[in-house]
Amino acid sequence: MIDLHTHTNKSDGTDSPRELVNKAISMGMKVLGITDHDTTSSWQEAVESVRGDISLALGSEISCLTDEGTSVHMLGLLFDGNNPEMQIMLEETRDGRLPRMRKMIEKMRAAGMDISMSDVEAARPAGATLGRPHLADALVNKGIIKSRDEAFQGMLNNDSAFYVSHAAPTPIEAVRMIRSAGGVAVIAHPLASLRGHILDSSNFQELADAGLHGIEVDHRDQNPEERAMLRVIAQELNLVITGASDYHGNGKLNSLGEFHTAPDQWEKLESLALERRVVRA
Ligand code: AMP
Ligand code: ZN
Ligand code: FE
Ligand code: FE
Repeated sequence: MIDLHTHTNKSDGTDSPRELVNKAISMGMKVLGITDHDTTSSWQEAVESVRGDISLALGSEISCLTDEGTSVHMLGLLFDGNNPEMQIMLEETRDGRLPRMRKMIEKMRAAGMDISMSDVEAARPAGATLGRPHLADALVNKGIIKSRDEAFQGMLNNDSAFYVSHAAPTPIEAVRMIRSAGGVAVIAHPLASLRGHILDSSNFQELADAGLHGIEVDHRDQNPEERAMLRVIAQELNLVITGASDYHGNGKLNSLGEFHTAPDQWEKLESLALERRVVRA
């Protein structure tokens, strides 16, 4: 089984990198992608945990905004984690998440909710990329809501009055950065309509022209019709087709390995990276 998109507690997942690698090993996973939001801080512990037959495809899920303000997530895999420009880009996005969180909290306080930055900091694991799921956890801890899922159905979703975006590269900038750091770029859940505005077909052409390598087709937030559309787009643009769980530990319903990538598609994707950066024991 090949699952190329997962999160740890270095962003908004709940398993440590070691716990995640251990779970994947006990499932007999062949290739595990670790893609925390806007960070590579999970890589070191993951590498230290690797044993047996598993291969790690280390990466990051880069938060992007189009010029029209559409939120896009770009998976970068197998890039050089020491690339300085890449690290600066990731750091700038992480930095932007703090004022963004303050603004969301201000809006909630203005609406009479008893929530503060220190509540959110208390819900965020040390060093984790700050995100709405940590705000959701703080609201749960305060008894204001019952779960992350409830938060994202309502007050924390992209169309909510409390939503604020943060500074981020455009998807094309992210693709170029991933490529210049020697990695491969796969657009994550591009038709996940629950997240608000989505891309149209001209956007895929532009991304392919910029050097996009693949499209995440099989993902729980895309229904069968959306997956069929994406498969056609991927075939027309000669892009790799991936599937993945987007596992977040207990932070989301997604279970590890619930969707996966076909071995031939993985082989093609890996061959497109500048170096063979897969990590094995
Ligand atoms: P942010 O990066 O702060 O904009 O928050 C977006 C993150 O929230 C994404 O990584 C999603 O995985 C996560 N998310 C979206 N919907 C849900 C949900 N229903 N339950 C838990 N987490 C979610
Ligand atoms: Zn997430
Ligand atoms: Fe995502
Ligand atoms: Fe994700």
